[in-house]
Amino acid sequence: MRTLDCEILVVGSGPGGATTAALLAEAGHDVLVVEEGPDLRIDSAPNYSLDEMEQKYRNGGLNTTLGRTGITYIEGRCVGGASEINAGLYHRPHAETLDRWRREFHIEDFDLDRLRPHFEDIEAELSVGPRADGLAPSSQKIIEGADKLGWRHEQIPRFWRYGPEDGPRGRRRSMSETMVPRARAAGARLEADTRVVRILHDGRRATEAHALTRGTIRGRIRFRHLVVAGGAVQTPLLLRRSGIKRNVGDSLRLHPMIRIAARFDARVNDPAFGVPVQQVSQFKPRITLGCSHSSLPHIAMWLGREVPDRRRIMEQWEQVAVFYVAVQGEGHGTVRALPVLGEPLVRYELTDADMAAMGEGLSHLGRLLFEAGARELYSPVEGQPPLRSVADLDRLLQLPHGTAVAVSTIHLFSSLPMGEDRRRCAVDSYGRLHGFDNVSVHDASILPTSPGVNPQGTIMAITRRNTAALLARGL
Ligand SMILES: Cc1cc2nc3c(=O)[nH]c(=O)nc-3n(C[C@H](O)[C@H](O)[C@H](O)COP(=O)(O)OP(=O)(O)OC[C@H]3O[C@@H](n4cnc5c(N)ncnc54)[C@H](O)[C@@H]3O)c2cc1C
Repeated sequence: MRTLDCEILVVGSGPGGATTAALLAEAGHDVLVVEEGPDLRIDSAPNYSLDEMEQKYRNGGLNTTLGRTGITYIEGRCVGGASEINAGLYHRPHAETLDRWRREFHIEDFDLDRLRPHFEDIEAELSVGPRADGLAPSSQKIIEGADKLGWRHEQIPRFWRYGPEDGPRGRRRSMSETMVPRARAAGARLEADTRVVRILHDGRRATEAHALTRGTIRGRIRFRHLVVAGGAVQTPLLLRRSGIKRNVGDSLRLHPMIRIAARFDARVNDPAFGVPVQQVSQFKPRITLGCSHSSLPHIAMWLGREVPDRRRIMEQWEQVAVFYVAVQGEGHGTVRALPVLGEPLVRYELTDADMAAMGEGLSHLGRLLFEAGARELYSPVEGQPPLRSVADLDRLLQLPHGTAVAVSTIHLFSSLPMGEDRRRCAVDSYGRLHGFDNVSVHDASILPTSPGVNPQGTIMAITRRNTAALLARGL
């Protein structure tokens, strides 16, 4: 068995782990980052291609929750985590959301004003700004439809750089382009293709981690402080497998999404633009409407299995684009470890209010797309014919609850909420695991509930704040 020693072990190199590693290494600490996925370049495969799904998605993106409505969810699994495969859309959270978290979960020193320097730092580091290369045609459709209906809409800034070396479409400022090189430059070591499978602990201290490299080489890692940053599903999985269970994996939240493909008379799909950036803000944070990436595999996925004339629609792909409804969501889920296999069992129940919000969002989105000239919408409800009018849309929305609708998510959080309320929180106001002196959690798990906006900025700002607190206390 291989043995590694470090002062601070960081498990996972997504936005939470990579930010933590960079800041701790720059403060002079000896940091080892262990990442289960491979170490690849940002451009090792085209964004949203099948190759990218194979290389960088956990299980190729095929993960589903159990519950009355199964929800397909995607996790990144590579150096940089999901920042390597995401759309780069950046939001600060709403001040009211932070305020509610502070009150309900008893979080100390926590509001938008105190987080502002952390957001500003991250925005500078990730080059957050508007698109410099024009709007995709499907974004224009969002604008056209929303303007006709008198709804507010906005261009969402992205973490993207348009430097001379970044090409005409710019380059995503993922973790492998920003925080990971910063951590390495400051002396952090990174072990890719290595999964931490168990944490040993003794009373209030974690003592060592057991890991597997490429599924076969066993290793043990000794450390003084442990930061777990595996994301909202993998972090509770690892802790539960290690016998750490109090408030761990009991309160998973997610943003449920419904996608709908729409066909227009003229071209709306230009893959060169990547993920379009326009969103309807009229109904935020409860409901967000926007456009997805519309690569061929994505169109095929969101058309549904039973759509008639599938071949004709695919042949007209340039006239087809995919749009989404995302809702803030108030359902709950759990993460458990399957015995023997050690894989996660994720259960999630959408509430009636979630279903109602998705129906309302679908109705808004459908109306907007017809106003913008859509000829056909391909129903997200299996077995339903294409929708050609607002009347068809209204009929679809009358279907009883429980009709099979394709719900998915790319935003998961809240499986170890932060705060001083020990009845429901797994970590304290600064991300330290309750009941332990040398374990912190720095990832999406600790957001108390759904933020209602694209979450990476919030995860990174809270991580930066909590890492500063860790340094101030001398770990
Ligand atoms: C397709 C997609 C599009 C998205 N678009 C946006 C967007 O536009 N804007 C936005 O703000 N957010 C977006 N998100 C969400 C955002 O990317 C995530 O919220 C964010 O990456 C979560 O960061 P994290 O640090 O919690 O974990 P992750 O990014 O999930 O990283 C965790 C890392 O830890 C590794 N790991 C897990 N367990 C172990 C273990 N036991 N041992 C070793 N390594 C381990 C994983 O392999 C992974 O690389 C998107 C997500 C997806 C999937």
